[in-house]
Amino acid sequence: MATNYFKNYPNQEGFFEQYGGSFIPPNLQKEMEKITDAYFSISKSHNFISELRSIRKHYQGRPTPVYFCNRLSTKYGGRIYLKREDLNHTGAHKLNHCMGEALLAKYLGKKKLIAETGAGQHGVALATAAAYFGLECEIHMGEVDIIKEHPNVVKMQILGAKVVPVSHGLKTLKEAVDSAFGAYLQDPENSIYCIGSVVGPHPFPMMVRDFQRVVGIEAKEQFSEMTGELPDNVVACVGGGSNAMGIFSAFLEDEECKLFGVEPAGRSFEVGEHAATMSYGKPGIIHGFKCYLLQDEKGEPSPVYSVASGLDYPGVGPEHSMLKDMKRVSYVTATDDETIDAFYELSRLEGVIPALESAHAVAYALKLATENPRQSILVNLSGRGDKDIDFVIEKYGLPK
Ligand SMILES: *Cc1c(COP(=O)(O)O)cnc(C)c1O
Repeated sequence: MATNYFKNYPNQEGFFEQYGGSFIPPNLQKEMEKITDAYFSISKSHNFISELRSIRKHYQGRPTPVYFCNRLSTKYGGRIYLKREDLNHTGAHKLNHCMGEALLAKYLGKKKLIAETGAGQHGVALATAAAYFGLECEIHMGEVDIIKEHPNVVKMQILGAKVVPVSHGLKTLKEAVDSAFGAYLQDPENSIYCIGSVVGPHPFPMMVRDFQRVVGIEAKEQFSEMTGELPDNVVACVGGGSNAMGIFSAFLEDEECKLFGVEPAGRSFEVGEHAATMSYGKPGIIHGFKCYLLQDEKGEPSPVYSVASGLDYPGVGPEHSMLKDMKRVSYVTATDDETIDAFYELSRLEGVIPALESAHAVAYALKLATENPRQSILVNLSGRGDKDIDFVIEKYGLPK
């Protein structure tokens, strides 16, 4: 792995080797270039960094702890540790980049934050950031998702955001993205588009990664302090890939740390039954950037499914796509059933109810622990499971 990694990737045009870039209409390209310039000049400034640090500490409650799972490790072997992003304000890692994006918006004098949301998690995090900074917030959401994700819709409204229903096409995430970009282009002077993961056109994959790096920086220091060494294995779930990039970024140059990105194998390997982009996808273009993509013969994104709605995306961040080709990160999978088992194991052995997204990472960590009883495993627990409990009980019931 090159030293100077973060200076080399992405390059000037936003490419991570062949992935990333920005494949968008010229009017949108102009706005992206303005955001890129602003990001480089503002986000490296002393004032910006001190303000973000203060927010992380006093508002978000960072650093989040690293926690050793005693009972889980005793049962499965290995030494399993969790980076507790479930204890970050709002209960997941997403607020890390939303506060960064909103702070940038404030420095740019913007009045409104615009985004799309699928399951509603990104919408809630962004609505939280908007409330903190006193900015308007407009969240575009497919009508199908609005019905499915009712509690998150209510949360966004309580936080003062406007939820815009999207009623064309399949009425889900893809249409919501188009609608949000459309709204942004109507008033790019006063508004800013805030993406929810390390995806989309340059500069978003870089910006979101940089705002999530705090997770890895903290975790590396905490783990070393607790154990006197680096973890043998670092595991994170991958939807778009923001929580995974956050923790992996601190260990990329430590060749002795094995890195695992866990994607959802869902119900089966049939098209439409999983979202294991790295296992079954090939390079293509979605939402203005190039990445591994689950696609049909025409290059259209395939339907995807996961028990964790935060992971059902047919693409993946461009940086992950590059790290797969470089073989620096191993991309593996966990099925729905393995995920539900891990959800209950962590709840009952440690008193921590994980988000179903994060439970994918836990599921793979349990496999690693069984196979490598002498090794340490650091899992990024990206979020808490309160949002999932009704669904799990209704669909799966209590474990036998
Ligand atoms: C959204 C979400 C994810 C997936 O997004 P990434 O960008 O892949 O991190 C994972 N875990 C939780 C708790 C989420 O809310």
